[in-house]
Amino acid sequence: MPKVEIRSESCKACEYCVVTCPNKVLAIGEANNSKGYHYVVPANPDACIGCKLCAIVCPDAAIEVYK
Ligand code: SF4
Ligand code: SF4
Repeated sequence: MPKVEIRSESCKACEYCVVTCPNKVLAIGEANNSKGYHYVVPANPDACIGCKLCAIVCPDAAIEVYK
């Protein structure tokens, strides 16, 4: 099963990945990183199909997708 990981310290909560994911896997989380951003979390991880669109659109290379 594909797996998506977010490097919380690299995320600035722009939400590009959230709106791009076709399966609504990602969401802004509750916790803050050290810069004060509510970083993205895999809220619905089982729905990930490993398309990598989230990783491609992230301007901060904060997302890694494992097939
Ligand atoms: S790899 Fe595709 S399905 Fe999985 S979280 Fe990223 S955009 Fe969504
Ligand atoms: S696209 Fe990257 S920086 Fe923007 S919210 Fe998603 S993980 Fe964070």
